[in-house]
Amino acid sequence: MAYRYDHILIRYGELSLKGKNRNSFIKQLFANVKTALKSFPALEFERQHDRMYIYLHEEDAAKVSDTLSRVFGISSFSLAVKTKPDMDEIVQACLDSLPLQEEKTFKVAARRSDKTFPLISDQINRQVATAILKNSVWKVNVKDPDVKVVIEVHQDAAYIMTNKMAGAGGYPVGVGGKAMVLLSGGIDSPVASYLMMKRGVHIECIHFAAPPYTSQNAQDKVMKLAELISPYQGEIVVHVVPFTDLQLAIYQNADESYAITLMRRMMMRIAAKLAERRHCQAIATGESIGQVASQTLESMQAINAVTTMPLIRPVVCMDKVEIIDLSKKIGTYDTSILPFEDCCTIFTPKNPVTKPRIDKCERYESRFDWEKLVDRCVDDVRSIWIHPGMTDPSDGDEEDLF
Ligand code: ATP
Ligand code: MG
Repeated sequence: MAYRYDHILIRYGELSLKGKNRNSFIKQLFANVKTALKSFPALEFERQHDRMYIYLHEEDAAKVSDTLSRVFGISSFSLAVKTKPDMDEIVQACLDSLPLQEEKTFKVAARRSDKTFPLISDQINRQVATAILKNSVWKVNVKDPDVKVVIEVHQDAAYIMTNKMAGAGGYPVGVGGKAMVLLSGGIDSPVASYLMMKRGVHIECIHFAAPPYTSQNAQDKVMKLAELISPYQGEIVVHVVPFTDLQLAIYQNADESYAITLMRRMMMRIAAKLAERRHCQAIATGESIGQVASQTLESMQAINAVTTMPLIRPVVCMDKVEIIDLSKKIGTYDTSILPFEDCCTIFTPKNPVTKPRIDKCERYESRFDWEKLVDRCVDDVRSIWIHPGMTDPSDGDEEDLF
């Protein structure tokens, strides 16, 4: 019977981590891999200290690989054939699984973690290569082979692999705590969300909506963006904050040039309250230095002044083209550029202040009872669960979380 790839072998990511960290990293990764692949019920999982194995049974290897490529903490993975750690079986499995009818160049790269295995790596290489040469038209090319036949011999099993797929890198989501990301409908904040998750931080999202100035389309677009980034984490909750009254109060009480700065300060106050209630350790945004008039260091100072919660800006030093490239890579770009108005776009002043002064912010804010309005925003939040593959992300389940 011909062998087929029946396993996936997973190599861990940034494992310079030592001791306890390493164990919790692997435990979290194992849980995340299982969650990501829960729609493939036949899979069987095995965890070891330096590798993870998935027994495919009858599941579709390509689909499983595609899902796996979005799980952070994996450096690479390979489709593999599993055999007994026995030379005859290994050779046979190679002959059965490699496309020997086609003309190829190859090299064999064996590694044994079981040092009691009777052959050393070089001998394994030679025996397998000899068998391939005898049974095919393949030629050896050590420098740049078409097929690299990788063989790993462990105490209880051997694995034969021919290709290595890139993992998502980073740390398993969850090992780095939890953060609230301010998710607008733009290009930058979905990328910021991705980068937070890549560092192992579990995220929840906050979206500020200003109906009727912003449309349902604008909100649906944000939900779609959340759905697009959700495979990296499993599921994402989006907290939708009704922001209209607070925004109108800002426009009634402050000079127009300060409106964006004040709006951002209010957003941070609300985000900080939601973050605390949801046990998050930080807030993240898609701000980038100099990108627009309101994203200067002075502006960031004025914004940071309202909370002691760490404000993380993952794309702060990236060029717009770099952010756009990343958004294309993760698949959010096409949705981000849909032309639905954001609450900021609608209320954007003609000449926003580029160097806001904190004392001036405070003076404007003292003119109205913003605390009450902030509390009302928090009270009226609607939290919506978004899952990968949802056909209609605007229809996510709502839960009362505050
Ligand atoms: P983006 O592409 O992320 O929208 P942007 O360049 O349009 O960014 P701004 O609109 O100035 O930048 O917003 C800066 C950041 O503030 C956003 O990246 C996001 O984190 C946050 N933000 C802005 N508007 C909203 C909103 N309506 N809801 C939630 N967060 C928002
Ligand atoms: Mg925006």
